[in-house]
Amino acid sequence: MARIEEEKTITVTKEVIVGFECEICGKIHNGEKLPKEWFEFTSQHYEWGNDSCDSVEEYTTCSFDCFISKLEEICDLFDRGNRNSGLINEMPYKYIKQIIAIAIKEREEKILKSIGANVS
Ligand SMILES: [Zn+2]
Repeated sequence: MARIEEEKTITVTKEVIVGFECEICGKIHNGEKLPKEWFEFTSQHYEWGNDSCDSVEEYTTCSFDCFISKLEEICDLFDRGNRNSGLINEMPYKYIKQIIAIAIKEREEKILKSIGANVS
């Protein structure tokens, strides 16, 4: 049996990325690629045993401030749900919490200094 081939134009429908929306402020970027200042990351935990794959969540944020806000939200969720195995981009969320605390303290000090307050 020989194949008989012919060139045809076929239309295929599939999902493609057309833009991104920031999880925190709702800012939208239209385009297939994530802009440099935007950041995509994941969280997951292992409290559900073998179904842990289902716990993987993806996030998109548009700036450092939105990124920190999202991290705070995720850490709160893990705290409230007692998800001690929680990971954010493969890093234990308890570490992330400490990093956030430092970042927030620095930002607050910067703001206080900018308005002339005495920060020790
Ligand atoms: Zn944002």
